[in-house]
Amino acid sequence: MSVVFGVAGVPTNYKGKLKGLFPWLTERGLNAVEIQCTYGFKMSDENKKLYAEKKDKGFYLSMHAPYYINLGSLNNQVVGRSKSNMKDGIELAKSVGVNRIIFHPGGGHENTVEGRRVAIKQLISAINEFTSEIDMGDVKLYPEIGGKSASLGSLDEIIEICRECKYCYPCIDIAHLHAREIGSINSKDVLKEKLQKIKDAIPEKFNYIHFHAYTINYGDKGEIKHLTHGENMPDGREGRPNLDDFVAVLKEMNITPWVISEALDSQEIGAKYMRDLYYN
Ligand SMILES: [Zn+2]
Repeated sequence: MSVVFGVAGVPTNYKGKLKGLFPWLTERGLNAVEIQCTYGFKMSDENKKLYAEKKDKGFYLSMHAPYYINLGSLNNQVVGRSKSNMKDGIELAKSVGVNRIIFHPGGGHENTVEGRRVAIKQLISAINEFTSEIDMGDVKLYPEIGGKSASLGSLDEIIEICRECKYCYPCIDIAHLHAREIGSINSKDVLKEKLQKIKDAIPEKFNYIHFHAYTINYGDKGEIKHLTHGENMPDGREGRPNLDDFVAVLKEMNITPWVISEALDSQEIGAKYMRDLYYN
């Protein structure tokens, strides 16, 4: 396996048709796209065909689940709908050659230790139910670190989900982690410690880790806004987490994850920046 760098969705700076996106990314040394299914697991037949072909030509495709999916909800109807949406997503993924589906653990719980524990338990049993009801093929599910401190998806919660669910692997959004912990990732060592914690807890899943990497503005409740690549924080401080440190840690720990940039309106610039650092 080798490390893979790519973009979240069709970059704002790319104006053409989907077909032309792939050579545009190749020119920049990028070979992954996280297809944004923000409004539902839907895709035109034309796009399905295009993605399926690209998979064969060495592009790596992941898919981001709709934001309304909430498997950690305390409302049974919401959980039931979310489970059925996820099954549709898995079928779609199999049909276009996507083998990673990223999703947000959700919310609606009481933000106390007990409230969060109940919600995570609910989430784990919901995932184990629907994954046992269908053929998963080679599709892996990636619960993502949440950007707000109240939302589900702390580092410990993501580890717990991955430990309890056979098909779950960690999506570590390093910007969300930094934001929800109110600016925790301020050195290479801190980041390394956090990744080591994942490695120790779920060693067999560690090399399949999926990253979202970009810089972020945050406040006392966590995430406020993704920053443009290279942009400073509103108070003039340099954007964090530091992407040079991130790439250095990937090399030092000798892992080969997929790295997706969600830099605001500059995904391809952020992704290329990390890719060039990695290879040069
Ligand atoms: Zn996300």
